[in-house]
Amino acid sequence: MNNDTTVASNFIRNIIDDDLAANKNDGRVVTRFPPEPNGYLHIGHAKSICLNFGIAAQYNGKCNLRFDDTNPVKENEEFVNAIKDDVTWLGFEWDGLKHASDYFDELYNFAVELIKKDKAYVDSSTADEVREMRGTLKEPGKPSPYRDRSIEENLELFARMKAGEFDDGAHILRAKIDMASGNINLRDPTLYRIRKVHHVRTGNDWSIYPMYDYTHCLSDAMEGITHSLCTLEFEDHRPLYDWVLDVLKTPAHPQQIEFARLMLEYTILSKRRLIQLVEENHVDGWDDPRMPTITGMRRRGFTATSLKDFCERIGITKNDAWIEMAVLETCIREDLNEHSPRRMAVLEPIKVVITDLADDYTETLSFANHPQKEDFGRRDVVFSKEIMIDRDDFSEDPPPKYQRLVPGGEVRLRGSYVIKCCDVIKNDAGDIIELRCTHDAATLGKKPEGRKVKGVIHWVSASAGVQATVRVYDRLFKEPHPGSAESLEAELNPDALIVHKTAYVEASLREAQPEERFQFERLGYFVADRYDHSADKPVFNRTVSLRDTWAR
Ligand code: ATP
Ligand code: MG
Repeated sequence: MNNDTTVASNFIRNIIDDDLAANKNDGRVVTRFPPEPNGYLHIGHAKSICLNFGIAAQYNGKCNLRFDDTNPVKENEEFVNAIKDDVTWLGFEWDGLKHASDYFDELYNFAVELIKKDKAYVDSSTADEVREMRGTLKEPGKPSPYRDRSIEENLELFARMKAGEFDDGAHILRAKIDMASGNINLRDPTLYRIRKVHHVRTGNDWSIYPMYDYTHCLSDAMEGITHSLCTLEFEDHRPLYDWVLDVLKTPAHPQQIEFARLMLEYTILSKRRLIQLVEENHVDGWDDPRMPTITGMRRRGFTATSLKDFCERIGITKNDAWIEMAVLETCIREDLNEHSPRRMAVLEPIKVVITDLADDYTETLSFANHPQKEDFGRRDVVFSKEIMIDRDDFSEDPPPKYQRLVPGGEVRLRGSYVIKCCDVIKNDAGDIIELRCTHDAATLGKKPEGRKVKGVIHWVSASAGVQATVRVYDRLFKEPHPGSAESLEAELNPDALIVHKTAYVEASLREAQPEERFQFERLGYFVADRYDHSADKPVFNRTVSLRDTWAR
């Protein structure tokens, strides 16, 4: 595990320090990351992963990966495998690989114990009746007519629920706590419901499944978790967490501590909403590079290092706050600037013919792979009579201070010669199809004599370069705080993906391996697509632009 970064302190680490000083839990620190396998992990989960695994590493403790698989209707094996891949890719190793379903027998026995202690009962009200009797924030709830069933009757009914004698919804098992509690979670919460569905791991063994709140605290206790870290929405559930463990007198009583969820501007971090994006085809699946999923961000070109750096920088607090996208983008830019070799690519090519060169002219130039790092070595780049430049780098009607190519003007080709545009060739429709230029042979690595040429543009040889598809990704939403409207469509950024199908990249990129990252000079940081890229059909994804283009 990565121990070499200095960890910033936070209120959770302070609590653990105090616990260790008091020799609580015999000095052990055990955490867990408990995803429900009902979707792919997103960058919010990365915050929780970095916290839980990071704390285990810092205190020589342990961290389990536990699948909270108590809702077989929504969960599946694809999600389980994807979650394991994501945690591994981030660079973490779990100590125990657990499933809440491992504990179904124990959880059942604990429920029987609660019934025997007169702390749980079978309620045969309908779901609507239960809802109505729950009361509101202002009004207390009403006790169910089944609340005073005898222990014997409850034991018998619960056993028959388990045996599959009843249909879904016929009965539930509820804790017997306090229907007048100011905390609605304590108004006799449901512990078990009947669900006659197949479970990936336990098959058709069970007709009843335990609820999250009941399962979570007991799973934590059985695994000897010392600090159960979760997000703020569970703060109101903590009294229930503690009630279950207190009533059952479990040997271990983990401490639940809540922290703020990650909220990241221009994105949505709720599995329900992400499922909606996938199912309504707003994106091409969970690993679409526009998605804030870990697998999507990986495919987009984010590094595990940059995500961990981000999680460290945003810190852990008790206050909900939107994090600016610029924080994430800075993390990835810093990492990629340091580690990516430079290349040239042209996204929307216009052909430039250098008329004063022979038809078969080629020249091999040597380019540094990184401006500051000699150990990145050098590569050959072929210059030829016909080259491609980007459409944006030529203008017939230039705005003020335009320093690129204009009719009659000069510009330097990066690492090569100064050229001058002599002629603009158009088709019948008036579209530019070719620029005719001359070159100044005395300007290779030298300033031109007697005049200043300010602009430098990138280029790719038309004959030696390779055609490629380049996908330019941007923020998925145009709204900084999306998700409040029921329709996601109105908030989506229509320019979140622009595909350049006829891009040109320099020949050395033929050898790029899937997931290899580069800076395309002047354009941004790019990665060879994890799935679609091949030497014959290169495909690159833009991870991030070189600068923040959204800053006001
Ligand atoms: P969602 O609301 O997106 O479905 P969830 O909380 O239901 O998320 P789980 O699979 O239950 O998803 O989450 C596993 C762990 O990750 C939990 O401990 C949860 O608190 C944490 N987590 C989920 N989303 C975030 C987030 N945005 N920021 C920090 N932690 C998160
Ligand atoms: Mg959840």
